[in-house]
Amino acid sequence: MRKLVTDIEKSAEQQKIVDQICKAENKPSAKVSVKNLRRRGRYHGRTHTISIPLWTWGYGPEYVLWYTIHEAIHALGIMDHRTDFKRKETFWMKKFGMVPTYAKAYVKKIHSLNGECLYTRPKY
Ligand SMILES: [Zn+2]
Repeated sequence: MRKLVTDIEKSAEQQKIVDQICKAENKPSAKVSVKNLRRRGRYHGRTHTISIPLWTWGYGPEYVLWYTIHEAIHALGIMDHRTDFKRKETFWMKKFGMVPTYAKAYVKKIHSLNGECLYTRPKY
């Protein structure tokens, strides 16, 4: 089945972000693809690729940006979600104008640099 053009455009946009982060961190960039996944996307270490699910767009542009940054940090070789991971993720989010509030591994809120709430995790 052919990919939708819009998915390819989304992939290109997210690829630029991953390229920027990997280049600044002196690591080889990972190939990004946006996919119609049921569950989570991830960084695949064996192939050095990142998958981002299409459903992330349903949570707004900041959520997609965070998701992409999150997987890019894994592509730098940090596979856990501990202090070093969060430090790098927070650093890169700030570069893109966002401040995270964490619940364990993942963000539960994203604010702009001047304190405006951009994303709140839905209650399940
Ligand atoms: Zn992760």
